[in-house]
Amino acid sequence: MKVPSKSILSWCAALLVIAAVGTCGYLVYDRSGRAEARATGDERIGLYASTLDQVVERFRTLPFVLANDEGIHRMLQAPTDRALIDRVNRSLAALATAAGADDLYIMNASGLTLAASNYDQPKSFVGENYSFRPYFRDAVEHGRGQFFAIGVTTGEPGYFLSRPVWRNGTLLGVAVVKISLEGLEADWRSAGSNIALADNRGVLFLASPPNWKYRPIRPLSETERADIRRSMQYSGISLEGWPLLKHAQSPANGDVVKIEMADNEQHSFLVTRSDLEGYGWTLYSFTDLAPIRHAAILAGAASALTAAVLLLLFLWWRGRRAALRAKLDAHDLLEQRVTERTQELVRANDSLSREIEDRRRAEEALKRAQDELVQASKLAALGQMSAALAHEINQPLAALKTTLASAKLLIRNGATERAAATVATIDDLVARMSELTQHLRAFARKDFGEMEPVDVTVVVQRALALANARLGAEGVRTVIDMPAGGVMVTGNATRLEQVLLNLLSNAADAVSHARERMIAVSVMQNDDQVQVGVADTGSGIAAGDMASVFDPFFTTKQVGKGLGLGLSISYAIIEDHGGRLRAQNRDGGGAEFSFSLPLAQAAAPAVTALGA
Ligand code: ADP
Repeated sequence: MKVPSKSILSWCAALLVIAAVGTCGYLVYDRSGRAEARATGDERIGLYASTLDQVVERFRTLPFVLANDEGIHRMLQAPTDRALIDRVNRSLAALATAAGADDLYIMNASGLTLAASNYDQPKSFVGENYSFRPYFRDAVEHGRGQFFAIGVTTGEPGYFLSRPVWRNGTLLGVAVVKISLEGLEADWRSAGSNIALADNRGVLFLASPPNWKYRPIRPLSETERADIRRSMQYSGISLEGWPLLKHAQSPANGDVVKIEMADNEQHSFLVTRSDLEGYGWTLYSFTDLAPIRHAAILAGAASALTAAVLLLLFLWWRGRRAALRAKLDAHDLLEQRVTERTQELVRANDSLSREIEDRRRAEEALKRAQDELVQASKLAALGQMSAALAHEINQPLAALKTTLASAKLLIRNGATERAAATVATIDDLVARMSELTQHLRAFARKDFGEMEPVDVTVVVQRALALANARLGAEGVRTVIDMPAGGVMVTGNATRLEQVLLNLLSNAADAVSHARERMIAVSVMQNDDQVQVGVADTGSGIAAGDMASVFDPFFTTKQVGKGLGLGLSISYAIIEDHGGRLRAQNRDGGGAEFSFSLPLAQAAAPAVTALGA
């Protein structure tokens, strides 16, 4: 089974709450409306009962007064005396008009009417016998009678009050007053109330709704109907008609009954009743519940609407609070993530700092090792060069010896001019030797000093000057191609010289067994770069060695001949100068090593031409 989502459930709950509040609102209002209606009904019934009492009380003593009237006594004792009857007739008519009673009349002991206030009217009671009426029997048997009935003679409904007329223990007759209660009915109707007065059997003989009149409030039994017929209480009216209510019993106080009204609609009424003691009647008030129900429906709807508005407000507030909480949570999460990330970064930074420190130390160690290697390489170069140097120095020394001897001879022979020329040659030889020693001193120094403007062509010339002795000895031809005006770079002359010397030395080694022994040195300036190359006609570099020639301790030379450091040191020096050393084989055979350096900005060269 599919589980309904949370929002559907909460909407259902909200609808239930609204419906419950609406129903409660309806019920509360309906109940209070009914209670109010009942209270109003009670009040109304009390008022109408007392009004009825007042109307009747006004006449209650009238039959008693008549029963004690001397003239009436006399008339009843002499029923054939026309003059007496006439007098009584007139005085009854005058009294009825003065008191406001419908009719006043006097019956003899057998119920025959002898005198009446309406004696002169077409429907006069005079001559009629009313002994069948209960008020006659009640007056005779119980001393008083009262009875509501429709007049058999006039057809007018009225309330009959009767008293017996006694004279010295003999019943002379019965005095009766008939009063109309129709005025009450008119009052009820004008007040807009549904009021009805029922007799002891439940027949509504007074009712503000016209079509309720003379209808029994409940179904009458056959006996009851026979009794009514016998007393002719409602003569001319058929009581066979439909009862107002279907219930077997008359409605009790507070009952709700349904009655079909003039609009043919069933209306619900709240019943308030009051049993009128002394009359045997019941006064009913029927309060229409439709307005109360309408008001209760309105109240229920208003309650439901208020509940809906409050619920919507609550849901809105809750949604807002949830959104706010989610925002705060997201903010907290973000903060937590930022904190975590910061911690990670701090850790990464620490480890990076450690790594940098490690690298710095390694670099220092490498630099130290490199410097030491440079030194070692120089010493090796010195060792290699020592033989050549010995030859180089021995040669001028031998020449010096010979030149000095010839100078001595020339001075001794007085040839001073030729002697002076010889001394000049000696001077040249001495200068050449001092130059050689200067180079060696510079090369042996470990600290190469500052970077400064250097003329590359001069550096090349100095390296060639150092290598020349060997190259000359081994019959190697050198081809030099350099711009005449010099080319300035920023660097360290001694270290660049060391590179060139190393390249020349390697080239010399490479061509040592070749047929054509030639080394070409070139310096070319293009744009902001200077390109320096040393090419030879040797055997070139084997394909498998090409990738390794710059590696430290890589050598193809015999043990004792090469350390395998020259190119790796040269590579590092060129890199320090912002250039790159490259190796390649030439098309025609042999190898070429080249590098390019950025041209210097400064003008004045610090290292000048050889011998300058
Ligand atoms: P070493 O000269 O002590 O061997 P280098 O680092 O100077 O050390 O040279 C390394 C190797 O590079 C040499 O042993 C050689 O095999 C090769 N090499 C260097 N220069 C040349 C060249 N001009 N021609 C051919 N091979 C060369």
